[in-house]
Amino acid sequence: MHGYDTLIFELSSPGRRGYSLPAPDVPTSDPAEILPAKHLRAAPPELPEVSELDAVRHYSRLSQLNYGVDTHFYPLGSCTMKYNPKINEDMARLPGFARLHPLVAEANAQGALQLMWELGQDLAEIAGLDAVSLQPAAGAQGELAGVLMIRAYHLARGERRTKVLVPDSAHGTNPASTAIAGYRVVQLKSDSEGGVDLLDLERHLDEDVAALMITVPNTLGLFEPRVLEITELCHDKGAQVYMDGANLNAILGIARPGDLGFDVCHFNLHKTFTTPHGGGGPGAGPVGVKAHLEPFLPVPVVTRREDGFELDWKRPQSIGKLQAFWGNFGMLVRAYTYIRTMGPDGLRAVADNAILNANYLMKRLEPYYDLPHPGPCMHECVFSARRQKKLGVTAMDVAKRLLDLGFYAPSTYFPLVVEEALMIEPTETESKETLDAFCEAMIQIAREAESDPRVIHDAPRTTPVRRLDQTLAARQPNLRWTPPRG
Ligand SMILES: *Cc1c(COP(=O)(O)O)cnc(C)c1O
Repeated sequence: MHGYDTLIFELSSPGRRGYSLPAPDVPTSDPAEILPAKHLRAAPPELPEVSELDAVRHYSRLSQLNYGVDTHFYPLGSCTMKYNPKINEDMARLPGFARLHPLVAEANAQGALQLMWELGQDLAEIAGLDAVSLQPAAGAQGELAGVLMIRAYHLARGERRTKVLVPDSAHGTNPASTAIAGYRVVQLKSDSEGGVDLLDLERHLDEDVAALMITVPNTLGLFEPRVLEITELCHDKGAQVYMDGANLNAILGIARPGDLGFDVCHFNLHKTFTTPHGGGGPGAGPVGVKAHLEPFLPVPVVTRREDGFELDWKRPQSIGKLQAFWGNFGMLVRAYTYIRTMGPDGLRAVADNAILNANYLMKRLEPYYDLPHPGPCMHECVFSARRQKKLGVTAMDVAKRLLDLGFYAPSTYFPLVVEEALMIEPTETESKETLDAFCEAMIQIAREAESDPRVIHDAPRTTPVRRLDQTLAARQPNLRWTPPRG
């Protein structure tokens, strides 16, 4: 039997082949005779020599080590790991979509262009905005596109503003994309309820501020009650307001960013509109804008003519092209399928059920973990393990122990404004039975912290690898096999 950590190189046996072919019936030649010597290897490559079955078993075994929402509950806060209906996969694999070459003539890609156009229309309606670009490959790139459009807008009006305001509870991509767009990031304090501190906002809001970027509901899972006041304050000073739409699943069909006064908003299709993600991709982060920012959208823009759809490149004020080709098209098909299968009432039910599930979890766990910002919450809730920390059990310990108990860990240590943060997002796709089982595991850990913290410190014991040095694993990943010497 091979262990989980058996490398395919260790299965290698000299001369073993993954194929058997009859001798060729055409003339062959020796590469050494027809290629210049400088292009020839001195030694054969160090490749594993295995049978086809060895290779298939090896990769099938590795694939089963994968942890995903198709196998387990995945309550990672802020990331919205909801179940991806398989009909999305069916549609994305339709040969007309999956096999379409990105450079095919527009006349031969009308179906794909129509899907993109309609998806843009749907997203604009959902968000109460006027135009959408599907190009950004992730939320972070949507942010960058949005901030670049805001910059182009100010410059077109002859204004050189230099600052963007971002609350201290923001996701790390907010300050990062703002800085990449050339702005100075100014951090705003949160008030005691976890919302934007209006006094701090007013203090910083001057004619040099290009935009305010906030997340609604915010990263504490709370709706910003003074959002209308906030967007108005900014507009009075000529600043634009950007909504990080990563948490849009909490307000789908209930409130629209455009109606709340936002000028720009990105969508994380891979969070709000299913479409699988993890391990860094693929993603899709379309960005929507109000009409005054439309001239600055990335090129090309999918437009409808009388006789079909086309890519419009003639947009002199555009911020330009963001990436190769037209976006992660397969993700667009999945999101489109999801929106069409859910319909308006279904999308509203997504938000209602996501909020219900999160509040159920919050109430059940409240006696066992500290809740720095009492609910009701929106689609996720943020606990603190500071009570457990006094017993020597950190948020990271809780997360590791959950793995032994059969659950993926919540987000830990985010948002930064909460000490020992445990951020839980159940999503609307989970049953009460699953939520209860997760709560039981969390309660068991809280009890163990009091009675037997050693079992927590020792966790995980049932996973393929135990506690890694996470810093070292991230900075110096050891992905290379070194053949034994001699
Ligand atoms: C996920 C997330 C982002 C970044 O989105 P990506 O698609 O991962 O680039 C930004 N803000 C918040 C609040 C998020 O949860």
